[in-house]
Amino acid sequence: MNAADALPSPTPRGSRKRVVLLGATGSIGQNALRVIASHADRLELVGVAAHSNWRGLAEIAREHGVRDAAVFDPGAFADARDSGSFPEGTRLLQGAAGLTELSTLPKADVVLVAVVGTAGLEPALAAIDAGKDLALASKEILVLAGKFIMEAARRRGTRILPIDSEHNAVFQCLEGHPGAGVRRIVLTASGGAFRDWPAEKLRHATPADALKHPNWSMGRKITVDCATLANKGLELIEAQWLFGLKPSQCTAVIHPQSLVHCLVEFNDGAMLAQLAPSSMVFPIQHALLYPDRAGGVEPPIDFTRLVRFDFSPVDMGRYPMMRLATESMTAGGVAPAVFNAANEVAVEAFLGGRIPFLAIPRIVGNALGRTSNFEPGSLADVLAADKEARRGAEADAVSFK
Ligand code: NAD
Ligand code: MG
Repeated sequence: MNAADALPSPTPRGSRKRVVLLGATGSIGQNALRVIASHADRLELVGVAAHSNWRGLAEIAREHGVRDAAVFDPGAFADARDSGSFPEGTRLLQGAAGLTELSTLPKADVVLVAVVGTAGLEPALAAIDAGKDLALASKEILVLAGKFIMEAARRRGTRILPIDSEHNAVFQCLEGHPGAGVRRIVLTASGGAFRDWPAEKLRHATPADALKHPNWSMGRKITVDCATLANKGLELIEAQWLFGLKPSQCTAVIHPQSLVHCLVEFNDGAMLAQLAPSSMVFPIQHALLYPDRAGGVEPPIDFTRLVRFDFSPVDMGRYPMMRLATESMTAGGVAPAVFNAANEVAVEAFLGGRIPFLAIPRIVGNALGRTSNFEPGSLADVLAADKEARRGAEADAVSFK
């Protein structure tokens, strides 16, 4: 959605925006809690969900006075219910249905989806249908089902506020500019943990190596995605849907400092950039307070010191996942869903020590090679393609043992 088409805020001025946070115990979740705590006069947390870390969730509920919580995992839910750790009067919900119920809470204004992978799809669609603002960190769901999510948001007239830093940056640069004037967008990529590794060393790369991100502190899956650059590939596809762009208009560049988050190039060749320190509190704060702005949680970039901005092209040979993502985006249909599903399986297998690092692009390439692509007519079509790709990738991963 173009920021220029933004709807008026559903929250009356002067009252606090009520936030539901799905993925509260994760890296984005923790940053969101800092933003909410720093803007207690403007934001109120009213619902939280996590996969299985119910102790962490109970602590958040106590600290923020939250009375609606959901635990996805059935075993963890049972433990949470019996623990007595949640504040008196907490309504504890379970599973996918619990998340969906939270995202449609009548009192909620905005639902922040920061669930890793695609489990946030249903709750996100439910939030859109319920007319909530959707603050979206979970890029995988746009890659899986961007067509259907954007259609639903258009139909219902709901607003999608990107949290992914590059997309939040594009959103800010587009504000007040008609989409027709945009020639292309350039998303910046740090290059991940292996940016400076000699290519021949990559075959020995371990999960611990891949998890050492040079600039950002994030969850495990996305940190590995940064090391392969799959993350930037997913982000190109995410941008295509969020901003209604053609694949050829979505590009990326290596920028090792992670201070410039995007460049938007207009038809006259002029570019706008968005800058902020590499901390997710900036985009989260922007999305949650939108359209207002308020004093920051963290200080801005300090130009009293030497600050460098370097840019270099992405080497597709070094980053095969970027090539596969770009090919999937250009092919369209269910190819992006297959790319995403096979990547999730491969990254989990790598993190579990079951496959080497360089098997990730091979598993994803094989999954795409097995797919007869088609234009999905329904959400059920993409979900079936996702399932099929996961099954194939799981089998493929076993052969790398
Ligand atoms: P993380 O692994 O740190 O946290 C994931 C969170 O999701 C946890 O709270 C976990 O409990 C929850 N979760 C997982 N499965 C769930 C389920 N089925 N039901 C309910 N909760 C579930 O991940 P993260 O780094 O915070 O990333 C979250 C999402 O945000 C990902 O899609 C990622 O691509 C995106 N994102 C993250 C960053 C970042 O800086 N971390 C930046 C941009 C985008
Ligand atoms: Mg990003």
